[in-house]
Amino acid sequence: MTLKLNIKNKFNVQLPADPVLENSRRQVKNACFSFVVPKRPSNPSLIHASPEMVDAIGLTSAMESKAFLDIFSGSELLPNTRPYAMCYGGHQFGNWAGQLGDGRAINLAEIEHQEKNWALQLKGAGETPYSRTADGLAVLRSSIREYLCSEAMFHLGVPTTRALSLVLSGDQVLRDVLYNGNPTFEKGAIVCRAAPSFLRFGNFEILAAQQDVKTLKKLADYTIQNHFAHLGSPSKEVYAKFFKEVTVKSMEMVIHWQRVGFVHGVMNTDNMSILGLTIDYGPYGWLEDYDHGWTPNTTDSTHKRYRYGTQPQIVLWNLLKLANALYPLIEEAEPLQSILAEYQAAVKVAYLEMMKSKLGLFTSDTEDHLFIEKLENVLQLSEIDMTIFFRKLAASNVSNTTDRLGTVSEAFYKAREIKGEIADAWKVWFSKYDQRLKKETKSTKERVAYMNSVNPKYVLRNYMAQLAIDAADKGDYSVLDDLFELLKNPYGEQPKNEKWFVKRPDWARNKIGCSMLSCSS
Ligand code: AMP
Ligand code: MG
Repeated sequence: MTLKLNIKNKFNVQLPADPVLENSRRQVKNACFSFVVPKRPSNPSLIHASPEMVDAIGLTSAMESKAFLDIFSGSELLPNTRPYAMCYGGHQFGNWAGQLGDGRAINLAEIEHQEKNWALQLKGAGETPYSRTADGLAVLRSSIREYLCSEAMFHLGVPTTRALSLVLSGDQVLRDVLYNGNPTFEKGAIVCRAAPSFLRFGNFEILAAQQDVKTLKKLADYTIQNHFAHLGSPSKEVYAKFFKEVTVKSMEMVIHWQRVGFVHGVMNTDNMSILGLTIDYGPYGWLEDYDHGWTPNTTDSTHKRYRYGTQPQIVLWNLLKLANALYPLIEEAEPLQSILAEYQAAVKVAYLEMMKSKLGLFTSDTEDHLFIEKLENVLQLSEIDMTIFFRKLAASNVSNTTDRLGTVSEAFYKAREIKGEIADAWKVWFSKYDQRLKKETKSTKERVAYMNSVNPKYVLRNYMAQLAIDAADKGDYSVLDDLFELLKNPYGEQPKNEKWFVKRPDWARNKIGCSMLSCSS
């Protein structure tokens, strides 16, 4: 028995394949992907499946079935399919890294259900021609983080790749978490993720770097025809329009990140989706203490290139690299440059509007940008929890209190510090907020409801993911189950779950996996 999926393969049918079929590590030329089959796991078991995604791909009660486990552990292949790893390159931490590619991701197939297309991809299912020096595997720890966070982001309304299933492989995987020469064995796992396409900026960059304009054109045409069909038939003008749409989608994505306090951690161009989806959940983190300089990624701790506050600028840098890759198709720099200039202007406006929405401001005032800047400054005077602050701020509107600072005090990590100059700065800001609110025409009730629809109450705090990991490592998946359910309704009040609406506990402040994450996964 196998799964009844409506298979509609396009990528590995319409685009040039690597002619070499052997699964050896190599440089691949003139091709967009290589055929490869997943490694058979020794003793797979299903840990979790996302009911929403099971439904979205057109399966019903398949979750408990052996066929489901067989396919999404990589033990069996879907009939009439040819799995493949995609070829891409990328700029890592500002430098061209050459060929990267799906080193441990294997696309099983593309399917269509209810007029939506999904590529189904196993992450951690063994080596591919792009594995370079690594093993093609993934550990339970990082797989839980990807699984929980991709579904949580979806429910937060942030564009993202999705997660269908989380499987334990039954194999042991050696990892040096701290990169300090002390590797240990961890449980291996496989996540099946889903997206309309897993194409990255890097898929275009590698072909431009190889000066393979013929294949580059094929890939751009394919992408436009299958994912940007409304732009019309490919032409120089349409390539520029395509680039423009990528800039808009990427901007929307990063503004959502800023809104919910998500820090990706590794915004290399190989981790930038051409569809503007959050992709590759590695050493990401959630801003607890509101700090523009924070990054969860210890590998980036010196330069903090990918810190929270620079994410919108890094998107611009990455878009510039994509523009360079698309240039051979357009052969004119001006259209690309003006689109990049538009991004620069638009991202400022979008950021301001997003911050205003967090404060419940609907009208415009010429001083709004200064008012938001002042909020950012005062938020960074002491350790303050971003998520709790904005929810309590909404609550302070309802209570109509004169002591707004008192109402948000739960958000402060060191309440004792909130005196003297810091307390004064807050009082000044709050009185400006009260003044500013007088310009608003909506009722308090409407404003508060709106604020609570853009400021999540529940996010996947770093320590929460770690609690799920620690339990799962001992075979207890109850925390994972609870968090999965909790994060389906991040904006709602969940009286039974108030225990998750608290500041990061002290034990998590400097714990590996909570505040510090490496790329080891
Ligand atoms: P990342 O920083 O996780 O986005 O990965 C960068 C590159 O390294 C990509 O080409 C990945 O496929 C590859 N990679 C990461 N981990 C592994 C692994 N365990 N085995 C093979 N390739 C990997
Ligand atoms: Mg990656």
